[in-house]
Amino acid sequence: MKKIGVIGLGNMGKGMAFSLKRGGYDVLGFDAVEVTRATISQEGLACAGSIAELAEAVDMVVLSLPTSDIVEKVVLGEDGLLRHGKKGLVIVDTTTADPNSTRRIAAELKSAGIDFVDGPVSGGPKGAATATMGMVLGGDKEVIDRIEPVLSVMSGKRVHVGPVGAGHVAKLLNNLVTGTHLLISGEAARIATAAGLDPQQIFEGLSAGSAGSKVIDNFFPTWIFNGAFNSGFTMKLMRKDLRLAMNLIRETEAPTPLAKEAGRLWAKSIEGIEDPEDFNRIVQYIEK
Ligand code: NAD
Repeated sequence: MKKIGVIGLGNMGKGMAFSLKRGGYDVLGFDAVEVTRATISQEGLACAGSIAELAEAVDMVVLSLPTSDIVEKVVLGEDGLLRHGKKGLVIVDTTTADPNSTRRIAAELKSAGIDFVDGPVSGGPKGAATATMGMVLGGDKEVIDRIEPVLSVMSGKRVHVGPVGAGHVAKLLNNLVTGTHLLISGEAARIATAAGLDPQQIFEGLSAGSAGSKVIDNFFPTWIFNGAFNSGFTMKLMRKDLRLAMNLIRETEAPTPLAKEAGRLWAKSIEGIEDPEDFNRIVQYIEK
């Protein structure tokens, strides 16, 4: 694994591409948006003019794309990786995606001698840029072991959670728990204010107690209490993740009254919080 392609050079993919380059790999990027390719080329990362050109040149591809539909198009489409990739190519999909689509893609690629691993990430654009992201990996152990040197220069922690698709299930559950936690924490801040207290001081107290968590300890001071709301992760993407988590619940028929209510509120929040807004804005959502 010497030459790595990165497809999708947005908030996350750009950081991953530069982390890989810093780690000594020969990196070739691609994004559907021409301006993005031009800007990133100027910043020193080589970009291909098409997915086909990238596929023919690389040993491994990292995907960082908005949705499963786009991943399917990039991998299985006419100009995609299946048609143009070499035998032995490994594709790692860091997109937060639909596990059913992931399994379908992996099965289709297998017969062509291409391996597919789902490796969705946590840590935001900062984690991608500083190679400190957490990754949950789904796929064959032998393939994951083979690409470990590459993954280790773009992430801080990796956990192999099961066969292909399991990484995407773990990521959906991660975001379901985080999304629910944001809702209840927003309510806790509102209760503190209504009780005539300073929510920031109260949250320092929560941090010291058993309610302490990444949401309480990091999200609130970094993006919420100071009004910054600039995490680099949008409402649109988080609503997608909650929607996929709801699909998972429907398929599994697991009894989940609280998760379903969280999914309903996240979906309904489109009424008051627009797609490009920061996902932490959900703490301000009050259903009409
Ligand atoms: P983004 O919208 O900033 O980046 C996506 C990039 O993909 C864009 O540059 C877009 O032009 C490109 N793209 C779209 N269609 C394409 C195509 N057909 N071919 C090539 N490029 C294409 O999104 P992001 O915030 O970087 O998130 C990427 C993925 O990572 C999403 O699935 C998201 O849910 C997940 N994620 C994001 C964060 C975060 O904090 N932003 C954290 C963890 C996971």
